[in-house]
Amino acid sequence: MPKKPSYSAAEAAEQLDSGYHWWDPVITYSFPLSHPADSEWGGFSALTTDQVQMAEMVLALWSDVADITFVPADDSQSAELRFFNVSELPAGGQASFPDEANGVNVHINPTHASNLTEEGELDTSLGSRALQLLLHEVGHALGLSHPGAYDFDPDNPDDAPNYYQDAEYYEDSKQYTVMSYFDAVYTDAQHYAYASTPLLHDIYAIQQIYGANMSTREGDTVYGYNSTADRDVFDFTINTSPVICDLGRRRHRHARSVRRRDRRPAGSRNGRLQ
Ligand SMILES: [Zn+2]
Repeated sequence: MPKKPSYSAAEAAEQLDSGYHWWDPVITYSFPLSHPADSEWGGFSALTTDQVQMAEMVLALWSDVADITFVPADDSQSAELRFFNVSELPAGGQASFPDEANGVNVHINPTHASNLTEEGELDTSLGSRALQLLLHEVGHALGLSHPGAYDFDPDNPDDAPNYYQDAEYYEDSKQYTVMSYFDAVYTDAQHYAYASTPLLHDIYAIQQIYGANMSTREGDTVYGYNSTADRDVFDFTINTSPVICDLGRRRHRHARSVRRRDRRPAGSRNGRLQ
């Protein structure tokens, strides 16, 4: 097997950019109480209070690093991002790329193992696979693709992509991006928990698309113990299994790029699973 090429953050960001972006960086969201008409899967239920809290944290984590703002929609059915449960989804979650005309359904399967504790309860805890999954689905809904040309195939659920065959470059792992299917161990990292924030390549990619959020925690922020970051994921007395990405106090002056419009034909590569 030939050795995989190594990609810089900039090269990885190109891989992660689907070409579908929101034109207006003020994005509306909702937690519908009835099943949106254009959702393909049955078994609808509204998110639980804990799931709503987790989803709002995920939105806050993405807007912390990129120049995008999320606002609750007046009408839940016409929000740009609609979060809800569908128990008949053949995966843990699914979301499509930004769609100005129809909005995006962020589907979660509340009965899928990836969203459950070992006891079979809905898991919305920090460091959970469910949180990482939702970071991934919202990544799709903001315009990020998988790092390689692979996807979950609902017709062949047992034929999952694997790192050796499907990763196109070495850094396609959950050490660098929550959009990867492959564990951090493939890039020689030992993560014993799931990512609780967007990771290095996710942050670089989303900032290339929307620009950096220059106002996030400008002061002397303390991460970890006795955190002043005002996010539970950064407080290690609450999040006891942190895998987070430390932005430091780097300035991303170069990162505000011209917002690109859809450069791929409509309809292609949409409907991503997991
Ligand atoms: Zn995906």
